[in-house]
Amino acid sequence: MTLLFAPPPQPSIAVVGETARFPVGRIFCVGRNYADHAKEMGAEVDREAPFYFLKDTASLTESGATIPYARGTADFHHEMEFVVAIGTPAFDVPVERAMEAVYGYAAGLDMTRRDLQAAAKAKGKPWDFAKNFERAAVIAPIVKKEDFGPVASQAITLTVDGVTRQASRLDAMVWSVAELVSHLSRFYRLAPGDLIYTGTPAGVGPVVPGNRIHGEIAGLPPVDLTIGPAETV
Ligand code: MN
Repeated sequence: MTLLFAPPPQPSIAVVGETARFPVGRIFCVGRNYADHAKEMGAEVDREAPFYFLKDTASLTESGATIPYARGTADFHHEMEFVVAIGTPAFDVPVERAMEAVYGYAAGLDMTRRDLQAAAKAKGKPWDFAKNFERAAVIAPIVKKEDFGPVASQAITLTVDGVTRQASRLDAMVWSVAELVSHLSRFYRLAPGDLIYTGTPAGVGPVVPGNRIHGEIAGLPPVDLTIGPAETV
């Protein structure tokens, strides 16, 4: 097969203790999975079912990067998130078996153009421009499920220039990892390489060029991001 031009490189993530890297397929993101964040957004958690948006792999960025201040926004926000990496196929799996599909976990940032999201919400329009753009899905190395242990009350925190902005625990998630994997698997054939960003706790806020974001989840490598100046043509 001859291709007309070189395809984009296969995005991948480092795995702690492995030389081989984790190739990334799709990036699912959960909305409103911490009640305190839903409240600060002026919304309520939907207890009937989780909801999602997706980011494409062009948004993937490894921890430690410096990214330009995002284009088209004046309110570029951080969202600290626990990320689930899928390692085996999952299609219509019950909650009780959903964890079998999980390969591991990572600390991530769901970078967001908040003003565009607010405008989209107000008009009932999609969130893509707010959520799915280059370098907006930041991720640290994956820790294998068996090395991390059970998802329980691990602390999840984020600082900007050393000042704490977000601080919560993983057991504050409305929908558990097993519930999210099971629910998504009723609508998608989850495949090895898929990621699920599981939502952010309260305390999201703006960043400006020069800010250094540092996120921690107990038991995982931290996620770091520096905001650079906006790109010029
Ligand atoms: Mn998010």
